[in-house]
Amino acid sequence: MTYAKSFRRYEDWRGNNYFLFDGKLLLGSDAKCLSISNSLLLLPAFFLFKDVAPYVSESKTHIYGIYLIGIFMLFVTFYNLWMTALTEPGILPRNEPHIRAELPSNANTVGPNSWKFCETCNIYRPPRSKHCTSCQNCVEVFDHHCPWTGNCVAKRNYKYFYCFIIFVTAFAVYAVALCTIVLIKNYFKHDGNVEFLIENPFALAVGIVSFICAWSLVSLCCYHIYLVYRGETTNENLRGLSPNNNPRFMGNCVDLCCNSVEPSLLPDQSEMVTADEYIDSFSDLISVHLENIRIERQKNNHNSDSRQTSTTASSSNTSYVSRVGQLQEPLLSHTEVSSNYGTN
Ligand SMILES: [Zn+2]
Ligand SMILES: [Zn+2]
Repeated sequence: MTYAKSFRRYEDWRGNNYFLFDGKLLLGSDAKCLSISNSLLLLPAFFLFKDVAPYVSESKTHIYGIYLIGIFMLFVTFYNLWMTALTEPGILPRNEPHIRAELPSNANTVGPNSWKFCETCNIYRPPRSKHCTSCQNCVEVFDHHCPWTGNCVAKRNYKYFYCFIIFVTAFAVYAVALCTIVLIKNYFKHDGNVEFLIENPFALAVGIVSFICAWSLVSLCCYHIYLVYRGETTNENLRGLSPNNNPRFMGNCVDLCCNSVEPSLLPDQSEMVTADEYIDSFSDLISVHLENIRIERQKNNHNSDSRQTSTTASSSNTSYVSRVGQLQEPLLSHTEVSSNYGTN
């Protein structure tokens, strides 16, 4: 692989994410779907505020109150939608293909809640994490990949997603309520004649769309409230992997909403990197792995192969390219390691 003289770190990104503003903002692999989510929120909200809300009551004070509540809910919904989409969900940095993945000494590799090897990311990922096949990254405390927000929902953005689900559900119920009030008022105005349906067609159209959305959103909202109570992710619940034997709702809610988001494990993707710095960043790791390989070979071989490996490990001035070449053979054992601990 050849690299330009210098580049921004995100230009070497191996996942399917999108980046904005020279790598300052990271979006998920389905970022294009965000336009659909925004349209599905904005269009009904526009007609609701323009053609339905003014006819709910004759009192201007009531109308102002209705607008205030609606605009507040819509604002919080959009804020949390975009925070879910723009927050790095908890991606685990991957290893270069020629670097041997390190398993922490106290790591448990047996059972469903254990460390697992990911061949794509070339890392051992901790319990509760999962490889997102859409974004092509291993993600910590993985909940699910959400096409509506375009991103993985996981450790660092779950609280925004949870608030988004609650407020979008509340807004859908609010829209259904306003449309129903206007339709009932028109029904009595026309003495039950079917013409009440065409008196305000927007109330009927927005009401039907909002009712369909509210129907599915209420169940999704209840499901995530249940998951917070259980202290589980969607992934764990669907696969029957419960990490928590002490369900509690208020404690988990407080933890979720009050705990600050942990710093990302990824380096700054907008940082400029020179080719030399990029190569040097692997030098220490390569030396450690060469030493490990030398020890392994000394144990297993008592012939000329061990002398050759020893020479490789002790050669600190060997160029990066040739050292990588020497690493290829011993590191082929990755597949053997992964078969022992499972994949993805
Ligand atoms: Zn992975
Ligand atoms: Zn994803």
